[in-house]
Amino acid sequence: METKYPEVKNYISGSFTKNGHKTMDVLCPLDGKVISTVPLSGKADLDEAVRSAAEAYQKWSLVPIKERVQVFYNYKTLLEKNLTELSELTHIENGKTFEEAKAEVEKSIELTEFACSLPQLIGGELLEVSAGVECRIEHKPIGVVASIAPFNFPHMVPHWTIPNSIALGNCMILKPSEHVPISSNRIAEMLKEAGLPDGVFNVVNGDREIVEAICDHPGIAAVSFVGSTKVAKIVYKRATSNLKRCVALGGAKNHLIVLPDAHPEMTANNVAASMSGCAGQRCMAASAMVGVGEVDGIIEMIVEEAKKILPGKNLGSVITKEAKERIEKYISEAEKQGAKILVDGRSASVEGSEGGFYVGPTVIDFVTPDMAIAKEEVFGPVISIIRAKDIDEAIKIENSSEYGNAASVFTQSGAAARYIMDRASAGMIGVNIGVPVPREPFSFGGWNESKFGVCDITGKSSIEFWTQLKKTTTKWNPEAKKNWMS
Ligand code: NAD
Repeated sequence: METKYPEVKNYISGSFTKNGHKTMDVLCPLDGKVISTVPLSGKADLDEAVRSAAEAYQKWSLVPIKERVQVFYNYKTLLEKNLTELSELTHIENGKTFEEAKAEVEKSIELTEFACSLPQLIGGELLEVSAGVECRIEHKPIGVVASIAPFNFPHMVPHWTIPNSIALGNCMILKPSEHVPISSNRIAEMLKEAGLPDGVFNVVNGDREIVEAICDHPGIAAVSFVGSTKVAKIVYKRATSNLKRCVALGGAKNHLIVLPDAHPEMTANNVAASMSGCAGQRCMAASAMVGVGEVDGIIEMIVEEAKKILPGKNLGSVITKEAKERIEKYISEAEKQGAKILVDGRSASVEGSEGGFYVGPTVIDFVTPDMAIAKEEVFGPVISIIRAKDIDEAIKIENSSEYGNAASVFTQSGAAARYIMDRASAGMIGVNIGVPVPREPFSFGGWNESKFGVCDITGKSSIEFWTQLKKTTTKWNPEAKKNWMS
C-alpha cells in the first residue's frame, strides 16, 4: 500500500502555499512511519488567510443561498466519486480501519447533503406590523469564521462546520489537527473543483500557537472548536474574552447503563462495538458500563465479543505512542487498585507493523467510581465496568461525571428507559444504542464539560451559531399616513 503523501501546505486564496515557520513530521499510526510533513504556522500566516477570507466575504456573503448551495451539490458528488481514495487516506493518517474511515467519509456526505437543504430551512419572516409598514427578519452570515479540529475524525469533524458555515455565507479558516492534516488539503482541492470561489475556504496548519492566534485575531468573528476539554476551556475563554462567538466541544466519559432485563446479545454487541470502534477514540465511545444488579451473563457475552476484536484486522491503532502509553497506564493503575482485567489489551502488536500504536480491546470489571479510569477520559478501546445495586445508584454514578456527551440505557422496559432518559446528565441519550449520534437534521452537542457555548455544532441548531438576524422595517406607501411608530 502506498503510504507516502506530498508535504502538507497551507491553502490561502485558492492556492497551496508553503508557509509556516517550521515543520513537523506526520506519522502513520498503523506502522509509526513518516508519511508527510505539516507546516506549523504563526500569526503572519493567519493574517494572510484572514485577508483572503475577508476579501472573498465581500462577494460570497451577497450570493443568494440557493446559488451558494450549488457548490455543495457538486462537492457531494465529488465526495461520492472519491469515496474509496478519501477513506484510504483517513485510514492511513488516523489509524482507524478502512471500513471505519469509509463510514466517516459517508458521514461527511450526509453533512454536505444537510447543507444543501439549508435554503429550505432558514426561511425568513415578514409581517405587516402596522398600516403599510413591514418588518422582516433574515439570517445573515457573520463574516470570517474559524474551525479548529481534533485528530480523531480528520474528515468528518471538518464537515461538521465547513458546509453549513459556508452555505450560510461565511468564509472559513480551518485549522486541522497537526497529527492528521492531509485530509484537509484534499478537502480544499475538492471544494475548489466543486466551484467554490478562492478565499471562501482556507486552511492554516499548526499547533497551539496558531490556535491562540485565531482566538486573538480581530478579523475573525466566530470560532468553533472540537477537541479535549482542557483545550476547549482555553479556547472558549480566550475567544469569548476577545468578544467572538464560540462553541467549543470537549472530551467525554460516556456511560452505558445495563439493566438485568437487557437483551443479552444486542447489549453485548453494542457495548463491545461502542468501546472499540475507532480504537475507542470517539467522543461518543462507551467508556464506562454501569451494570445494575445481576448482569454477569451479559458481561460474559461482552468478553466473548471483545475477544473477536483483533488489532490490525477489525481494530485500528491509536494515534500516537504517547496515547498508547497513557491508555495502558490507566489499565495498570486500575489493576493495582483492585479492578479485575477480564480482557487485557496491553502490549498488543501486529505482525509486520511492529512500529504501530496498537492497544487491544480491554474489559475491566469491578472498577469503582473513585478510580481514575472511572472518572477520566481514557480514549482507547477500554470499557470499565462499575457495579450498581439499583437504577438510582447507576444514575448517581452517571450524574457524577464532569462530562456529559452521551449516555445510553440497555433494557427491555420502556418505563425504566424513560426514567433514566429523564435523569441522565448528557446531551445525547441512547436507548439500546451504543453510539447515540444524532443524524442530520438533528444536532450534535453534549452538556456539562463536553460543550461550552449555547448552540450545537451541527443540524438546525448550528444555523443560529453561523448567522445573525437582520431586522428590516420598510414603508413605501405615503397614503398610509403616519402612525405612532413611523
Ligand atoms: P486536543 O484538544 O489535543 O486538540 C484539538 C485541537 O486543539 C488541535 O487542532 C490542536 O492542534 C489544538 N491544541 C492542542 N493543544 C492546544 C493548546 N494547549 N492550546 C491551543 N490549542 C491546542 O484534542 P485531540 O487530542 O486532537 O482530540 C481528542 C479529543 O477531542 C478527545 O478529548 C475527544 O473526546 C475530543 N473530541 C470531542 C468531540 C465532541 O464532539 N465533543 C468530538 C471529537 C473529539
